[in-house]
Amino acid sequence: MSTPLSPLVLAERSVPRYTSYPTAPQFTPTVDATVAGRWLAGLATDAALSLYLHVPYCRSICTYCGCHTKAARRDDPLEAYTETLLAEIDVVARATPARRVTHIHWGGGTPSLLGPERLTRLVNRIAERFDLSAIIEHAIELDPRTVDEPLVEALAACGVNRASLGVQDMNAHVQEAIGRIQPFEVVATCVGLLRKHGIAAVNLDLMYGLPKQSVEDVVRTATLAASLSPSRLALFGYAHVPWFKTHQRLIDAATLPGAGERLEQAAAATAALVAEGYQVIGLDHFARPDDPMAIAAREGTLRRNFQGYTTDVADALIGLGASSIGRAPEGFMQNAPDVGAWRRAVEAGQLSIVRGCAVSQDDVLRGGVIERLMCDFAVDFGALAAAATGESHALDDALPDLEGLQRDGVLELDGRMLRLTDRGRPFMRLAAAAFDVYLRAGKGRHSVAV
Ligand code: SF4
Repeated sequence: MSTPLSPLVLAERSVPRYTSYPTAPQFTPTVDATVAGRWLAGLATDAALSLYLHVPYCRSICTYCGCHTKAARRDDPLEAYTETLLAEIDVVARATPARRVTHIHWGGGTPSLLGPERLTRLVNRIAERFDLSAIIEHAIELDPRTVDEPLVEALAACGVNRASLGVQDMNAHVQEAIGRIQPFEVVATCVGLLRKHGIAAVNLDLMYGLPKQSVEDVVRTATLAASLSPSRLALFGYAHVPWFKTHQRLIDAATLPGAGERLEQAAAATAALVAEGYQVIGLDHFARPDDPMAIAAREGTLRRNFQGYTTDVADALIGLGASSIGRAPEGFMQNAPDVGAWRRAVEAGQLSIVRGCAVSQDDVLRGGVIERLMCDFAVDFGALAAAATGESHALDDALPDLEGLQRDGVLELDGRMLRLTDRGRPFMRLAAAAFDVYLRAGKGRHSVAV
């Protein structure tokens, strides 16, 4: 019998985040505007749609950023981008007979950088082309440093009912190290403005593993964040991938906490948030027990998509904006990442899809197992395999890796029932990876497991 691996060795393994399966590195140009057009045209007229609008601009670039964004110091690119988004809403509305939008999510970048007038114009256009009468959630990511009262008034008038604030860390020396000066008071003022205008559902996004960050810094940040009573919190590990995000080269790798300290930081922040009354949601989210996400987690209906954990159960996700990713029942589809290429397609009256992945029955099964594992900390993969293929052993190719993780103390296997141990929860991506046939084939380079 082999010796169990230490948590440090496990934490340093490199695996995908599994916000989709197959993961984005498996997307190819075989899914283009023609294929995506067929998928969107095939949606039922009463299908529920989720819209994701990506705005790839920020005032300045934070050194730790892992998003697809660039600096816009003037308004011209924002105006041009808005015009193309307006045209893209028309293109998409022509491409599908589905009209019922249940979720809208604005991500970036800093979508609020568009400002009240442009955001209102875009929401009005969506409302002209689609039916927003049954909308459940209209969410936007905000940079607290750029939020003022006119913006919040406009968001409330547009029907925004949830806001996610990028916080990361509340300590001055860490904020300096990541190029993002944002004192606690800035966040508190932003939360106050949102609540004043009726946007009560507030998420705060925190990070561990940042340069010069200690366990004490992470705990102080978590405690200060909880003092603002957000309905949800996310706690992401900083992913240092300077070969992919070149501005991260500005971060001195020697100032980054090591794998052991990252583990300690995640555990200490989790303990602090649990002590404040938050429920742990999957790998990296927390919610107040009365929040819809906490309820979904308890009821086994939590989902996972490109934004991480979600309660969104729409039939299709349509991505708008450069680089955005959508999902139809047949597979994933991604817009051109480059703003110029995206604009040229839209101006020609076409979808700008340049790559994606048609999902096979096997992909759907494996993706479903990974989703349940990451949402519920446990999955009966034999039962899911039997329901999909009639053969409970269809996923037994995962067993050798799973048995290895069992020896490491990450999970317990009872036949084909897999349950993560408490100690193993931070390593759930390693258990998910056991079902990933593409990873086994050795394609792609990813961030560390914790
Ligand atoms: S504000 Fe957010 S998206 Fe923009 S550069 Fe900073 S981390 Fe990246």
